[in-house]
Amino acid sequence: MSFCVKCGADGPTYRSLCESCFLEGKVFTSLPDHVDVFQCGHCGDYLLDGKWLDIEAREEVSEKATELALQISKDATPVNVSLHGEKIDEANYHVGMTIAMTVEGLEVNEARTTIARFKNTSCPRCNKLMGNYYEGTLQVRTRDRKMPEDQREEILDRILKMIAEHTKDNRELFISKVNRLNTKEGGLDVILSSSTVGKHIAHQLADQYAAEVKETAKLVTQKQGKDLYRVTFLVRLPAYRFGDIVRYEDKLHLVGALRANSTKLTNLKTSQGLMVSNSDMISAKVVGRKEDIIEAVIVTETDREVQVMHPTSFKVFDLKKPPKFERKGDTVKVFQLDEEYYLLPLQG
Ligand SMILES: [Zn+2]
Ligand SMILES: [Zn+2]
Repeated sequence: MSFCVKCGADGPTYRSLCESCFLEGKVFTSLPDHVDVFQCGHCGDYLLDGKWLDIEAREEVSEKATELALQISKDATPVNVSLHGEKIDEANYHVGMTIAMTVEGLEVNEARTTIARFKNTSCPRCNKLMGNYYEGTLQVRTRDRKMPEDQREEILDRILKMIAEHTKDNRELFISKVNRLNTKEGGLDVILSSSTVGKHIAHQLADQYAAEVKETAKLVTQKQGKDLYRVTFLVRLPAYRFGDIVRYEDKLHLVGALRANSTKLTNLKTSQGLMVSNSDMISAKVVGRKEDIIEAVIVTETDREVQVMHPTSFKVFDLKKPPKFERKGDTVKVFQLDEEYYLLPLQG
């Protein structure tokens, strides 16, 4: 048997007191009488627990802010919290809260109220956006020729996808500007709020297109002891693309997969495949585009040759099969250079 040291009542005790003496005059939770909530006047996001969040209803925001402002005594373990926010006027919301806790195994409930006060501010992303802030410029160009428009759009599409990926964990990332260039060189400039992301994207493009990246940094300001560098990443794509025909070491080759450091070529005459480092590929000259390759209908086929008909001139002529040649369907891919025709060793 135990009894309360204060009132002498028999029964279970909590720190030597009966339940009512133990809980008498005690509170386990507290809320400030008002809770300030900041909303960005430009994008509408709310600042909660150090993060900018897009939340539809102010009721919900007032409840979340109140829950964050709640203080619970170390002796208590919260079991359930319920909240109800209600509008007083545009800027003020009344929030009622009940907190169910356990203290020394006892069930304790408390109710608290506060006023959530909405304040206008400007978030760091909007500040940067309005200040035309940028750190990184991606310049995408092609070596020795104007960048074709379809390639430019394909690359822009890739860049936008990569940026969308990065935005998921970097709220302050945005594109300041996209410039499609109408110059002789053509190409693309993408101006970004982050040079780190710019660098990452430049190197991913380099891997995908066998491009080279040149980086130049310029110190623009020193604000509050912090240096701001603007970095330009020049991504220089090779003149050739997948499926083009190039002259390399005086022989014609079909361009295969482009990698970060090398490019695959297939000799049109011997069908031999070779990997050429991208630095050596600088000497390769494009003699034909993927679009220049024609589909010719097969008239007859022997072990060594195929007889084909030109799709526009309807001229019929014989072509020697390169080694390992395998036809797929009723047509073959043929490349013409000057007066000579080449049957492509890879017909896929
Ligand atoms: Zn007692
Ligand atoms: Zn904002």
